[in-house]
Amino acid sequence: MQELEHLGVTYQLNRIPVFDDRMLWLESDKLCVVDLRDDDAHVLSTLLRWTEREAKRHLTERVRILTEVTGWDVHKVSFRRQTTIWGSCSSKKHLSLNLELVKLDPAVIDYVIIHELAHTVELNHSRAFWNLVAMHCPDYPVKKAALRAFERKRLTKR
Ligand SMILES: [Zn+2]
Repeated sequence: MQELEHLGVTYQLNRIPVFDDRMLWLESDKLCVVDLRDDDAHVLSTLLRWTEREAKRHLTERVRILTEVTGWDVHKVSFRRQTTIWGSCSSKKHLSLNLELVKLDPAVIDYVIIHELAHTVELNHSRAFWNLVAMHCPDYPVKKAALRAFERKRLTKR
């Protein structure tokens, strides 16, 4: 891995061969990771742990704020690492979010959360559903397009 996308910004991976108790930090356009032994597996696991923690922190905070703003509450929130599904919301108001969301622009992440929260009111993709989404995310078509563009880019990278 040469670069990492985080909250819509692409960081170049910079492996630091000297000790620093921070282990991992962001520095302008660089993601610095301490790598004393040129150890790919160690760098990868440090990155995974960090992105998972940051994803849970960001998503938990946005769900808290957006349930307050919209008034659409959920009973339970869980996180998964998935390849194709960004989020889901069951009729029992169980919200599930993909940890990979943390790669996206914060405004696009908010759209995904608002979309899933709107499913607590309308469990379909009817006109009524999109009207609910538009109440809290008026430019949702732009966010949907950004999400599709990200998916296409990811597919061509593989
Ligand atoms: Zn939906």
